Amino acid sequence: MSAQRFLAGGRWLESDRRVTVRNPWNGRTASEVFLASGEDIRDAVCGAAEAFGKTRFLQAYERAGILNRIAAEVEASAECFARTITDETGKPISYSRTEVDRSVFTFRTAAQEATRMEGSVLPLDLAPHSRSRTGILRRFPLGPVAAITPFNFPLNLVAHKVAPAIAVGNTVLLKPSSSAPLTALLLGAIIHESGLPPGALSVLPGPGAEMGQLIESPEVKLISFTGSPGVGWDLKARAGKKKIVLELGGNAAVVVDESADLDFAIGRILPGAFGNAGQSCIAVQRIYVHRALYAEFERRLLDSVACLAVGDPGDEKTVVGPMIDEKAARQAEEWVREALGGGARLLAGGTREGALLHPTVLSHVSREMKVHSAEVFAPVVTIAPFDTMEEAIALVNDSCYGLQAGIFTADIRRAFQAYGEMEVGGVVVNDVPTYRIDHMPYGGIKDSGFGREGIRYAMEGMTELKLLVLNLA
Ligand code: NAD
Repeated sequence: MSAQRFLAGGRWLESDRRVTVRNPWNGRTASEVFLASGEDIRDAVCGAAEAFGKTRFLQAYERAGILNRIAAEVEASAECFARTITDETGKPISYSRTEVDRSVFTFRTAAQEATRMEGSVLPLDLAPHSRSRTGILRRFPLGPVAAITPFNFPLNLVAHKVAPAIAVGNTVLLKPSSSAPLTALLLGAIIHESGLPPGALSVLPGPGAEMGQLIESPEVKLISFTGSPGVGWDLKARAGKKKIVLELGGNAAVVVDESADLDFAIGRILPGAFGNAGQSCIAVQRIYVHRALYAEFERRLLDSVACLAVGDPGDEKTVVGPMIDEKAARQAEEWVREALGGGARLLAGGTREGALLHPTVLSHVSREMKVHSAEVFAPVVTIAPFDTMEEAIALVNDSCYGLQAGIFTADIRRAFQAYGEMEVGGVVVNDVPTYRIDHMPYGGIKDSGFGREGIRYAMEGMTELKLLVLNLA
């Protein structure tokens, strides 16, 4: 089988090593991909530094034009992108199509934001020694950015790094997930033809452990990482003086208050917990329900879980497909077993066929169980009752993570209480923590992250403020 080449320093290259990308549903080979060697990565870093000499001077209309061309080309190839995402990750096809639509939105938003990089004028005549002085404050691009991305949104999470980088005039060294590099290579081919200077984007498939040069090279000015907390915090420890943005995992919680509309809440919790086989950093993992509603909530939730379409991700109706691989599904199954051994009750699911874990609901969990306290990243949820809003908020906060939380309530005071007291990067009222539109500021506190994405906010992280002082006397 022929293998796909990778993009380094403006050239499509082969190497003497390949990785086989498999479809997690049927185990068939989706494609083979050549892996970038250390020398290729070095050349790509040099290429990115050289190309920055051009991208930093691109005008706003040129950067916006490039981003709009990329958006249009992704849109024109939408079905090909969706099929590739499903092929390499096992994501249900309807979810893959949504991801493609979102990434078009992400590139178009970046095109708009590229034309809105405003600065400010700062009065400096605040003391006698500073008479006649005025300041101008603007943001400037940093240089080459290392973008390291996970498997679960192989297009839109790449877009969340590449689009703001282009919008501000940076260059990008993209290291896609080794499980799912095909979508990134497809996008790389479009960006290569978009009018960006050669070398401004490299797409470098390879094992994470071999990416030392991206972390250590002085030419790389920012590491933008999305992935698991262990890897992310280790990169931060190694980053030295480089800037770093970390978008990591969580065990997101949702609260269903006694005033909530149960049908609406369950209708949202279902895809929030089980869509994409729970493999979203903001997937619902912990559900806290007011005791007055608990029995009814549990009954209706289990009825709905029993009706979920589970199986072939190529089927238009499927909501829960396979996980990324059998190893990941086995780990989640093991954590469920461990919880059951510790006294948890299995209300639904718990069974596995290969990489497919059936939607699983557990009650009577305790805080030391991994299904509760660690990031399960699988179609597994826990449910528990609470009596007061103070207790519910304390339960949400009883986590080392803090990405997003949701609360279903008809009481505006409780909504604001949650906003004020939940220890997360974003509180979502009357929806699941899984809610996201791509221009909103997004990111976590505690172990869940460092910095924010969401185009404008990512652009801030990818630029440096510089002051101009004018003496106009
Ligand atoms: P992962 O941490 O295993 O891999 C992420 C990326 O890092 C991959 O490209 C991988 O090859 C690379 N990598 C691994 N070790 C590395 C190293 N030592 N040096 C450099 N790169 C290295 O994560 P995953 O399994 O692909 O994705 C799932 C994780 O991502 C979950 O924890 C999930 O919550 C998180 N995630 C977070 C967000 C967010 O926006 N906060 C979004 C999606 C996924």
